[in-house]
Amino acid sequence: MDNPIWLIAAVVLILVAVIAIVAVRARGTDSAVVDIEPSRPKGLLAAGLGRILRGNLDDRTWEHLEELLLSADVGVEPTTDIVERVRSAGPSTVEEARSLLSEALKAQFLAHGRELSLTAKPAVVLVIGVNGSGKTTTIAKLAHRLTQEGRTVILGAADTFRAAAGEQLDTWAKRVGVDVVMGQQGGDPASVAFDAVSSAKAKGGDVVIVDTAGRLHGKKNLMAELQKIHRVLSAEAGVSEVLLVLDATSGQNGLAQVEQFGEAVPLTGILLAKLDGTARGGIVVAVERRLGVPVKFVGLGERLEDLRPFDPEVFVDDLLEES
Ligand code: GDP
Ligand code: MG
Repeated sequence: MDNPIWLIAAVVLILVAVIAIVAVRARGTDSAVVDIEPSRPKGLLAAGLGRILRGNLDDRTWEHLEELLLSADVGVEPTTDIVERVRSAGPSTVEEARSLLSEALKAQFLAHGRELSLTAKPAVVLVIGVNGSGKTTTIAKLAHRLTQEGRTVILGAADTFRAAAGEQLDTWAKRVGVDVVMGQQGGDPASVAFDAVSSAKAKGGDVVIVDTAGRLHGKKNLMAELQKIHRVLSAEAGVSEVLLVLDATSGQNGLAQVEQFGEAVPLTGILLAKLDGTARGGIVVAVERRLGVPVKFVGLGERLEDLRPFDPEVFVDDLLEES
């Protein structure tokens, strides 16, 4: 070992080993953080509540609470229900009122499972929603997540309406490292979806995620088209999930806009995109009640990692958390 080259080589080897261990550890904690990382925005209601819940709890208090919830986009029906639950329980202290509010908020959420049901092989996931809501990006994030879990994912570019839509999905697919089945612009979306499932069957893929168009003008045609895709997929492999992507920044109007999707095809879950882009995250409370299906994931940014499983308990605690 008196040759300095050996010494340098040994030092380099040790350094590489240390870096590798640190990197693996960092990844380990990262993915753990991803799973427990709550859904933002933190403390959304806390500041307002601090002003409202102090001193006497009287009719004005409940009026102000109602205004606060409405301004956070909680929606009229859930707000009325929440305020009534808190008020009628007759809290005598601020702490009591806070804890009643927390319970009332949590009671707005469905008790449904929020896990994706992906046991079929291939499991077919149909993703729908209006243009710009975040479908394609969310599909990429979901594909990334499922791939990390060890599943083979194939994407179907059934948004054949806009030329750029397929290319966008293709770009994401390359980044994620999954296959994508493309269609012709203006071609039949149902046949692209069919081809994606056939490809998954041939290659032994685990999950097929089908992207769709979301143009709102010509809504009737869009709904008919989605129904056809759903029919074809049901006949070919069964549909495991129909996930509606909703833009969290679109507010109560956005929510009203998407109700027809639920009438056209049987929804199994909601993917709430762009929750990072709103200071009015109360939409999460309203959306489940309105559409009757659980929020399964929330989007918190434009990167592949920015998709989180939704946990109502954590979410409500976050809303009320004081900084
Ligand atoms: P699509 O028309 O429904 O397929 O929507 P896209 O996936 O093309 O998304 C529309 C825009 O929203 C793009 O600029 C995305 O980067 C952006 N976007 C999607 N999801 C999120 C999110 O969770 N947070 C933020 N900040 N932007 C998002
Ligand atoms: Mg798209």
